[in-house]
Amino acid sequence: MNKLDTSLVTAALKQAGFELSENGQGYDVVLFNTCSVREHAEKKVFSHLGQLQHEKQTKPELIVAVMGCMAQRLGDELLEYEAVDIVCGPGQIPQLPKMLTEAMEQRAKRIAVSDNPRGQVETAQSAELEDFETVFDHEDKNIPGQAFVRAMRGCDNFCSYCIVPYVRGPEVSRPVNAILEQIRRLADEGVKQVTLLGQTVNSYNYNDGGRSYSLADLLDKVSQIDGIEWIKFVTNYPLERGYGDLLAAMRDLPKVCEYLHIPAQSGSDRILKAMNRKYTRGQYLDMIAKAKETVPGINIAGDFIVGFPGETEKDFQDTISLIERARYRNCFVFKYSPRPGTKGEKRLMDDVPENIKKQRNNRLLAVQEKISGELAKGFVGKKIRVLVEGLSKKPHLNNSNGRQMPQLLGRTAGDWIVVFNGPKQLEGQFADVRITKAKPLTLFGELQKPCES
Ligand code: SAH
Ligand code: SF4
Repeated sequence: MNKLDTSLVTAALKQAGFELSENGQGYDVVLFNTCSVREHAEKKVFSHLGQLQHEKQTKPELIVAVMGCMAQRLGDELLEYEAVDIVCGPGQIPQLPKMLTEAMEQRAKRIAVSDNPRGQVETAQSAELEDFETVFDHEDKNIPGQAFVRAMRGCDNFCSYCIVPYVRGPEVSRPVNAILEQIRRLADEGVKQVTLLGQTVNSYNYNDGGRSYSLADLLDKVSQIDGIEWIKFVTNYPLERGYGDLLAAMRDLPKVCEYLHIPAQSGSDRILKAMNRKYTRGQYLDMIAKAKETVPGINIAGDFIVGFPGETEKDFQDTISLIERARYRNCFVFKYSPRPGTKGEKRLMDDVPENIKKQRNNRLLAVQEKISGELAKGFVGKKIRVLVEGLSKKPHLNNSNGRQMPQLLGRTAGDWIVVFNGPKQLEGQFADVRITKAKPLTLFGELQKPCES
């Protein structure tokens, strides 16, 4: 979501006459897009603001703006920081170019956030965001050939630990036609893979002229767009209505990738209840079993929070055993971070010590690494299609100057990272790679031949 917002704002600012600074040098404006999901992310922003306050002493004309969830969460409080000139919530990003231009002309602090982010989203605000989304999406290709497309905004789930519903507002599904038009345009510009975004994208539900569209319906419609070859969607909430239809769509629509990110958060019923997640461990495991049965070769990914208030070693063992049963392709693990204003923060003591959180975090990652390693080995010797993202991050291997075959990085439909040598021109294209070696997080292979589609 934040990457998408960053590219939309970048495009809008370029149109307003701004340029990106080269190598972080020679800038007049510093703009932070922020996340409030964990305290750590916010702390990093505060530390940057501290440095900028220092910098402003010798460069008073510098403008510092903070956009995103932290701006919405803290509002005026953030404006009180000496370094901060502009505070702009995620629902107000269309106003950012004007706010920045004005701030450069006449120095005064400016703020645009929702007074009541959980209130009914005003039609005017919705229309402004819709326009912004469709006008500026062309900049969104920081990975060649790929684009994120928002299917939904906000969230109504109120998991007890989570700040998202408070800062991103109520759940709203974007109109089917707006999404389709946008994807058609992206396809005309050469985009081959779209990722539909939503906090609980599988609860997508849009009513149009008496007909209601689910995520499965949307995937079907997007599949019909020429030029789009792969469709992914994140993130899914367990136990949504229409799960069977979604799995059937994944099975029957060849363009829909066999990748399902469906966070469990914990394997303990007691903790799931305290988290206000509306499913049990048993129901979750049944869903995973059904996914594996319906969609052969499906790759499932999960998120987990360790050290949630009251989590005992027994609860944690339940999480380990759930991971072992689900056999995820990968997991994202987070240490619980109390977020101001959430039920978790107001009603529950953050009572698991930091060192235990850290230990549990590492233990879960080790369990997952073993599983990922085993699954990865299953690819050795196989030919697999990847969409090439670009040069790999290792500078000594990716130097394309004077090298015909630098090291490239691609991703499979199931979200496995594949590293191989090939011509740089493959960036943004599909390629077939024979896997020769596997590590838990990365597959290594040899280019077979560039492919047409
Ligand atoms: N909408 C998505 C996730 C949004 S936040 C979903 O429901 O799956 C991304 C991840 O951050 C969550 O899945 C959760 O694992 C983690 N997270 C959210 N709030 C957190 C908190 N207070 N402390 C630690 N991790 C948190
Ligand atoms: Fe947060 Fe839960 Fe909504 Fe995900 S579903 S964004 S974890 S409240």
